[in-house]
Formats: sequence, structure tokens, C-alpha cells
Amino acid sequence: MLRPTVKLQEFHAKTLLSRAGLPVPSYAVATTPAEAEEQAAGYFERGASAVVIKAQVLVGGRGKAGGVKLARSAEEAGQVAEAILGMDIKGITVRRVLVAPGADILRELYLAAVLDRTAQRIMLMGSAEGGVEIETLAEEDPDAIFKIHAHPQLGLLPYQAREMAFRLGLGDHLKQAAAICTGLVKVAIDEDADLVEVNPLAVVREDGPDGPVESLQLLDAKVTLDDSALGRHPGHERMRDLDEEDPTDLAAREAGLSFIRLDGDIGCMVNGAGLAMTTMDLVKRAGGEPANFLDIGGGARSDKVAEAMRLILSDAHVKAILVNIFGGIARGDEVARGLVEARSKQARSVPMVVRIVGTNADIAADILRESGADIVTATSLDEAVETAVALAGGGA
Ligand code: GDP
Ligand code: MN
Repeated sequence: MLRPTVKLQEFHAKTLLSRAGLPVPSYAVATTPAEAEEQAAGYFERGASAVVIKAQVLVGGRGKAGGVKLARSAEEAGQVAEAILGMDIKGITVRRVLVAPGADILRELYLAAVLDRTAQRIMLMGSAEGGVEIETLAEEDPDAIFKIHAHPQLGLLPYQAREMAFRLGLGDHLKQAAAICTGLVKVAIDEDADLVEVNPLAVVREDGPDGPVESLQLLDAKVTLDDSALGRHPGHERMRDLDEEDPTDLAAREAGLSFIRLDGDIGCMVNGAGLAMTTMDLVKRAGGEPANFLDIGGGARSDKVAEAMRLILSDAHVKAILVNIFGGIARGDEVARGLVEARSKQARSVPMVVRIVGTNADIAADILRESGADIVTATSLDEAVETAVALAGGGA
């Protein structure tokens, strides 16, 4: 099923990678041009010949959109930061930039550890053609992408890491390349990430005491976390960028509701994931389209019901609401109270069909009737579904 994932900003992703011992160039984060200028000055003092200023927004292709720029002096870094801060990239306003010493890039490659749900393993994907968006590459030249599945318990085995390194043409950097391959898989497993992507992984040239030396560096990083595993990583919570998360997802999470928006027009409020799926199937069978998946969970109190109603109604496409509650731990009367309360406060009027059975269903029926609220009650599930579909103006 579709679920909201938690995307990390580049600088947070880089924190996880450098913590795992991987070669990430040093970086700083600035929110003002003056700050960026000062940080850049620090890098120039330590010998950098350029700095790179990068917009921190959760979208791909920042480079093409003008959100990644090099500067040759601290002053120029300040000007570049001024131009990038406040810039709109694919609908998101840039509030922060990353400042890092500019790399002298010889080659750009692609490397990522992704969760392959079908194989139930972490898969390492690599391509010698980095810098390009992987989706484009997958379409135009799928053979240019190498895939290796890691062992579920042991992670990426040494021979697998070496194989990937050779396939990417990194024989000259075998030790470092293999360590990076192993490291990306390890980060994916240790952090419960479903994606750890480095694009570009770059071969860079630096001045050493005996002339130029080549090495590998992780110049860009993208990490998405499995939001179901957030509870296992208290540190991840602080890395979330709430400003860029969908406000509906956020509100649902805060209220303890599982809510996923879909394309239809019948808002569904159900307790239990299985019952929610069944309800959605029945809506479809009756010729309707569910507007959402929503599990209000067991033992839902009336305030949770009211919040669920608010989330459903925040979708302008919703034309009817179907409430299907099987009272067990969740008591029918609590749900009914929540519905009446939500109904009295709702911003717009949408027909609502309610079917409540199980614990305190009789009290629930009394509450709904006595409230005088504009609620259609149904006794059977089929009846409830058909009524909701008809009220939404659809159906077979
Ligand atoms: P994205 O466009 O959002 O994926 O951002 P990236 O961080 O991948 O940057 C885009 C491109 O900018 C890279 O593919 C590089 O070609 C270039 N770039 C990024 N950092 C540096 C750097 O330190 N030095 C140089 N010369 N180019 C860089
Ligand atoms: Mn990139």
C-alpha cells in the first residue's frame, strides 16, 4: 500500500552517511547570505578553491532548476546564497542552503540502496552514468543500471561490493568503492531507510603533498525513511522537515490516524485496516470511488473521530461520507458522539451515511437520532455502501 514516507533533506542524509564513516565532503547549513559568506570564507581559508551552494529542498533536479551553484570567493558565495535563498523550486521556497567546498569532479556515478519489496531485500543499484536522473536512465538505457541484492542478515557481502565496483569501472578505487557499496546498504538497514541514494557519487581530484590525488566522494545524498519505523529511531524525528511534509499527513499522524488520500469522492471512516480495505472494495463494487483510506483505530475517542472528519472534509472532491464502525474496543457511542460533534462544526455540508454495529450500537443509534443531525443511518453494510454511492451521485 501507498504510505507516506519521510524524506530527509540532503544535509540530514549526509549526516547519516558521514556518521557511517562514508566519504562525505564537509558541509555547513546557512539560512542567510551573511551566514553562507562566513562559512564559505572558512572553507577558502582552509584551502578550497571554490565552494558550492546548494538549495535544501525535498525535490530532485535542483541543479537544473538553478539551485546548485559554485562560487570562487566568499563574497560571491554570499551573492549566490542571496539568489538561491527565497527561490522557488518546483513550488517550494528555499529557506536553507548547504555550503561545501567545491569538488573538482572527474566522473559522476549513480549508487543507491533501495528496498526491493518484491524480493524482500535491500537492492544495490549502480550506474556509471551518474548525475542523470535515474528514472530517465531506467527508461532510456536500463542495461546501464546494475542491480545486486544484499543478503537479508549479512548485508552486502564483500564479493558483491567488489563486483559492483568493477561494473562501475571503479577498479582503480576498489577498496573505497567497495566500502561505499557496503556502507550504503548498511545505512539502509540500520536506519530503516527504504532509499539511500547518492547521485552523483564522484571521482574527485584534490591536491596532495605529492601532486593531485583521486578519491571517491558522496556529493549528493537522498534518504527516505520508513515512517513505520520512526519509533525505533528517536533521532530521526528531529530530522523531519515538517514545513515540507503534506499537512494532511502530519495532522493524521499527530492524531494517531492512518489516513491515505485517494482519487475518488466518497470519504470513508472505518475502524481497523482490514475493515477499511473491505469497505473500499465494497464502495468500488457498488460503482463508487473511495476518496481515502482511513483507519481511526481501536478505542477511538470522540475527538479523534472529529479530527478524522475534518481530514476527510479538507478534500474538496468528497461528495459523500461513509462511516463504517464495528464496535469492539472502539465503542459505538463514542464514535456517534464524535460524529455529531464534527457534524455541528463542519465547514461544508456533505451527505453522511453511518453504519455502527457492535459495542454500544444501540446507544449510538439513540445519540444519532436524538441529535437531529443530518445523518443517514443504515443497518446493513451493503445498504450503507449503496446509499453513500447514490448520494455521491455515482453508482451502477
Ligand atoms: P540535484 O540536481 O538536486 O541532484 O543536485 P546535485 O547535488 O546532484 O548537484 C547537481 C550537479 O551539480 C551535480 O551532478 C554536479 O555536476 C554539480 N555539482 C554538485 N556539487 C558540485 C561540486 O562540488 N563541484 C562541481 N564542480 N560540481 C558540483
Ligand atoms: Mn543529485
